[in-house]
Amino acid sequence: MPDDRGSAALARLIAAAGRAVVFTGAGISTESGIPDFRSPGGIWTRMAPIDFDSFLASEAARQETWRRRFAMEDMFRTAAPNRGHRAVEALVRRGKVAAVITQNIDGLHQASGIAAEQVIELHGNTTYAHCLDCGTRYEIAAIRVAFDQDGAAPRCLRCRGFVKTATISFGQAMPEAAMQRAHRETLAADLFIVLGSSLVVYPAAGFPELAKRNGAALAIVNREPTGLDPLADLVVHDGIGDVLGDAVGVN
Ligand code: NAD
Ligand code: ZN
Repeated sequence: MPDDRGSAALARLIAAAGRAVVFTGAGISTESGIPDFRSPGGIWTRMAPIDFDSFLASEAARQETWRRRFAMEDMFRTAAPNRGHRAVEALVRRGKVAAVITQNIDGLHQASGIAAEQVIELHGNTTYAHCLDCGTRYEIAAIRVAFDQDGAAPRCLRCRGFVKTATISFGQAMPEAAMQRAHRETLAADLFIVLGSSLVVYPAAGFPELAKRNGAALAIVNREPTGLDPLADLVVHDGIGDVLGDAVGVN
């Protein structure tokens, strides 16, 4: 059973807000079949992440990174936006939400119909790749064909730089422009809605704290408790699709 009181309370906060920001984590995409990291059974209970320095330092690490990425390709390629993504899209379309700050790398907010300019990706995007040196874009499918032929980690056809998914790995610098935009949008918001994040990955998790300190109302919809629950004006420990879908009136 979805939490009806949670939905109603969230609807009231949204109605009272002039300018809301939505902040999403892996939890909004589990209903699309993409596992999160920290739920029981999440990805990291099975394999440790490969950090950026290891990727740069070793061909074996680069190959392993790409093998793991290809193993997830069918899932990322076929995943479709769910009710939670659709509800967020409706809030953007109605002018209630000015920007979606996301830690997700799956591109599902854009797939739901939100313009790319209104999605601020703090951890990049895994649906394509780029050269770490010159930025040239590469498609996953093409890289996979070459990898299957020679087993070598992909190198840039222009400059021979390492090619990596356009994500931010642990140990890699945060994207400066996205961080600044997220900061500006957070300070401009009077309501900050967290959807499906354990709020343990910094600096991303600093934004809800900043919003609250700046006077915004803070709402958190997450199945499990987070460290910021005591700070929030509303906490709903339930599934995002039903809670936000009901609050917004979207199926
Ligand atoms: P996390 O795995 O640390 O936390 C996800 C949280 O969402 C958990 O606390 C869980 O209880 C909750 N949750 C899961 N499904 C839910 C649902 N249907 N309704 C309500 N709550 C639900 O995720 P995070 O905080 O985003 O941090 C993980 C990092 O991993 C991020 O930086 C992100 O870049 C990356 N990641 C992204 C994806 C993706 O793009 N879909 C998937 C896995 C990991
Ligand atoms: Zn290059």
